[in-house]
Amino acid sequence: MTNPDTDPLKLCLPIPPQAEYIIEKLEENGFEACVVGGCVRDSLLGRKPGDWDITTRAVPEQVKAIFGRTIDTGIAHGTVTVMRGKEAYEVTTYRIDGEYEDGRHPKNVAFTPYLEEDLKRRDFTINAMAYSRRAGLIDLFDGKTDLREGRIRCVGNPLDRFGEDALRILRALRFSAQLGFEIEEETREALKTLAPNLARVSKERIHTEMTKLLMSPHPECIHRVFEYGIAPWISKTFGEINPRDVWITGDFPPRIPLRWAALLCHETEEAAQAVLKELKMDNDTIGRVKLLVRWRQRPVGTEEKLIRKTMSQMPEDAYDDLLALKQCLRDIPESREDLAEISRLTCLIRGRGDCVRLKDLAVTGDDLVTLGMRPGKAIGQALNMLLELVLEDREKNDRNTLLAELASSGCLCGADSKT
Ligand code: ATP
Ligand code: MG
Repeated sequence: MTNPDTDPLKLCLPIPPQAEYIIEKLEENGFEACVVGGCVRDSLLGRKPGDWDITTRAVPEQVKAIFGRTIDTGIAHGTVTVMRGKEAYEVTTYRIDGEYEDGRHPKNVAFTPYLEEDLKRRDFTINAMAYSRRAGLIDLFDGKTDLREGRIRCVGNPLDRFGEDALRILRALRFSAQLGFEIEEETREALKTLAPNLARVSKERIHTEMTKLLMSPHPECIHRVFEYGIAPWISKTFGEINPRDVWITGDFPPRIPLRWAALLCHETEEAAQAVLKELKMDNDTIGRVKLLVRWRQRPVGTEEKLIRKTMSQMPEDAYDDLLALKQCLRDIPESREDLAEISRLTCLIRGRGDCVRLKDLAVTGDDLVTLGMRPGKAIGQALNMLLELVLEDREKNDRNTLLAELASSGCLCGADSKT
């Protein structure tokens, strides 16, 4: 254990004042307490932690007795949320996981008075450090060295640890991508061996970890999923992706549909959809990825009208994702010069406020009703016909011009003229 009196890190972990207060209060009441896990790892790396988890010897009832406002977040697992103003901190009793019965969940958890036991159950050395002002850095498994040397290593025997909980296999890959770390050899070999255990992990959890990996600064680590023989255990359809088709780097903008589309862009739209559906992705994201996969293969064209037509086919942010994706990919139907021209014209079109959607058309459905058209399908068709005209020629987006077009197209035939 690091000597807290000489450890300079003792002085520099930026624990938020409210977390510090909770720890002090627990200590005043005779209970050891410290921050633990991801927040210690991230602080040592100079990153801002997402949340600050506190671990303590006090059992939930004791924690609740000390603090005014608490929420029973997961009492059975020892977790109480302590509210301080608007901030919420999870305070969890030191615990030991019982036997794992299904390769994912411990049969039961037991509280323990020893921090060491709690740290031992954690997945990787870099996630198994604790810290308090009083005790300094508590690093029983040399996590700090692994952090310095950029290594993901299991706490204890990797085969046992992945055998207990197969989700850790994906966590190892995900942390390696988020931090740009290597996976230590024994840990790596164990995760390859136990990849089939991923069959026991829910598709939702798999999808969450894969999204975190793809959204990380090193999404190219996705290649390890193929290299280590894990892909078929992500899902059946994921296993059918050809890794030679996959090209993704940290330069791809970190937006979820865009990163998934980068992974799946050589698939057919149906195959891409099948992968995402099997991983229980939400429908909105599936729709956006499909759109990107479809349009990645189609040239947008370098004429204003063609660009307006493409813009009209998708939400504005999806169109931005499409251009960004094309900028990043190597094999697209456009040349670099074409892409630059498309970007320039897109700015021009947006700057001028050209109509690219029904809502920007100079006539509305209400106008057509006023002109005597019956509400219903015909109005939708008429508006779409006008939009087509305006996409072709932006100057036509003028009320009188459009109404004249309507009259000459015969759409208003039979309508009672009220103009
Ligand atoms: P993130 O920044 O993604 O939240 P994190 O390390 O905080 O990273 P969490 O999932 O929030 O990850 O978990 C908090 C801590 O709980 C981890 O740092 C680790 O010590 C422990 N932990 C989480 N999941 C597992 C697991 N499946 N097996 C063992 N320990 C785990
Ligand atoms: Mg966390």
